[in-house]
Amino acid sequence: MAVALRLTEIFYSLQGEASRVGLPTVFVRLTGCPLRCVWCDTEYSFTGGEPATIESVLAEVGKYPARQVCVTGGEPLSQKECLPLLQALCDAGYEVSLETSGALDIAAVDPRVARIMDLKAPDSGESAKNRWENLALLNGRDEIKIVIASRDDYLWAREVLRERSLASICPVLFSPAQGRVEPAELAAWILEDGLEVRFQLQLHKLLWGNMKGK
Ligand code: SF4
Repeated sequence: MAVALRLTEIFYSLQGEASRVGLPTVFVRLTGCPLRCVWCDTEYSFTGGEPATIESVLAEVGKYPARQVCVTGGEPLSQKECLPLLQALCDAGYEVSLETSGALDIAAVDPRVARIMDLKAPDSGESAKNRWENLALLNGRDEIKIVIASRDDYLWAREVLRERSLASICPVLFSPAQGRVEPAELAAWILEDGLEVRFQLQLHKLLWGNMKGK
């Protein structure tokens, strides 16, 4: 059987983010990312990993009692076999979501997949990589996530929200970068401006801290 994927881990936990927050979910974390966000919390997925096939991933995912599967990274789309993997998971009847950096083309992602797409704010160090053409490909099943690491990031995100009418495309999530912006501070900014965004904290970090495989 041909080895086509590089896999960092598969684990079972509660979804920590976005509209599926709290749902039991199997996470498939693919290895590799072409970005280097300064606040990245999954640097261990940049390199290493184990070889895997789509069949072996399906077999492992099938061991857990969950309907939800989240393909994440790293940047999962940096592996070309991510696309057939997403398709195979959908074909197997799972509710599939994809967490992607927003830097790579999402056009070929199976339309059954809910895409949780980042827009990188300036203090990530990677905002030049935002692939703005992706916005035209999103629909109401998808979500846009912006991690806010400073007041400047917030002002940038507020401007992008307005200029590009993000809230008319799909739900928009603002998350504080851990250790860089106080959650209550970000919440206060959103309330003050009455933004049409959803504030979110990462549930898994509240429950278990910053632990690998959770
Ligand atoms: S895109 Fe995601 S995985 Fe890659 S460096 Fe940024 S936060 Fe980390």
